[in-house]
Amino acid sequence: MPPKVKAVKAVKAVKTVKTVKTATAVKAVKTEPPSFNYERNLTTNFKFGAHVSTAGGVFKSVVNARQIGANSFALFLKSPRKWVSPEYKPEDVQQFHELCSLHGYNPRTDILPHGSYLLNLANPDDSKAEKSYDAFLDDLKRCELLNIGLYNFHPGSSLDGDHGDSIQKLARNINRAIEETEFVKIVVENMAGHGNLIGSKLSDLKSVIDLIKDKSRVGVCLDTCHSFAAGYDITDQEKLDKFLREFDSIVGAEYLCAIHLNDSKAPLGANRDLHQKLGLGFLGLEVFRAIANCERLKGIPIVLETPIEKDEDDEVYGEEIKLLEWLEGRSPDDPEYLEKSSQLAKLGKKERDEQLKKFQVKTSNNNKTAKAKTKKNKAEPAAEDDQEVAKLMKKRRSK
Ligand SMILES: [Zn+2]
Ligand SMILES: [Zn+2]
Repeated sequence: MPPKVKAVKAVKAVKTVKTVKTATAVKAVKTEPPSFNYERNLTTNFKFGAHVSTAGGVFKSVVNARQIGANSFALFLKSPRKWVSPEYKPEDVQQFHELCSLHGYNPRTDILPHGSYLLNLANPDDSKAEKSYDAFLDDLKRCELLNIGLYNFHPGSSLDGDHGDSIQKLARNINRAIEETEFVKIVVENMAGHGNLIGSKLSDLKSVIDLIKDKSRVGVCLDTCHSFAAGYDITDQEKLDKFLREFDSIVGAEYLCAIHLNDSKAPLGANRDLHQKLGLGFLGLEVFRAIANCERLKGIPIVLETPIEKDEDDEVYGEEIKLLEWLEGRSPDDPEYLEKSSQLAKLGKKERDEQLKKFQVKTSNNNKTAKAKTKKNKAEPAAEDDQEVAKLMKKRRSK
């Protein structure tokens, strides 16, 4: 990859000028030709991008995406950890539209906002589910105001309730939201599988979609880290293809409308949602090479959510996008690719070893608890009545 030091320095210099609060200084910055850290690749067949910041206004996301050379991007429409946020200023919305057309992003196809982490449309508690619904609908309306065509969110959790009932509640709320909006497609993300989360199994996604009346308004985003953590091995071309075939037969190929790219800090089936930089985690670089050569993923947003430290700024994403574009057209036995892959694997080895140890301790503790439970159950007389057993069985089956 070419060194970017020069360009970075230039942009940092512009940032310094911006902090000078005199009218002349601001004018001077505005007339300067735009300078970007990373060039945008317009010949690639893939829309590689990243989740970008909106600090300073929602329109800033467009410039931030352009800055890292992204061909698609994600953003939060409002603070992901607050229930209510102020409405957009009309001039911010206007600027968002203008910047999208200036930098050549089609908001209907290239932008995939991420919903609030607080949302749980499947909450067994009606008043809490309703609170989520209000925030969800507000997000969707913000999308339509910005002319954004896709909206990604986490399907939620059945908590201590019945899993099947929660899936029905989630689908009911999606149906309501579709009726109250015009065009935005609601994209459900698959989950890593801890607790009673909906969407860790492909069959959950299928159950939700089955209940949606207008199927043209619903889709799925597959997160590579979540898939792996949920137990789907996608570490090489063959395994990824098998997973996608399983997706097609259970959910349906037509519903796949986005990908989240993350390596995984935790091993296969660990049910931990721990994102890692590409090539450093338990997935390794091969799945990302396979994705960068996967015909069916051309044209949909493929968005990085790898962890970035505060001081790393946007260089990590800029470099990762360039890495993905470099992987396009490379075969698994390409010597340069193999070298890159082993370099990255070495960088992540220490952290993988630590996580593996933690995982092994946890698994052995879980096994001990399970054994103790079985012993206790055997020793106890069968006291539960038939109804109670039936209820328990139903709960287990639906998980
Ligand atoms: Zn997510
Ligand atoms: Zn994700």
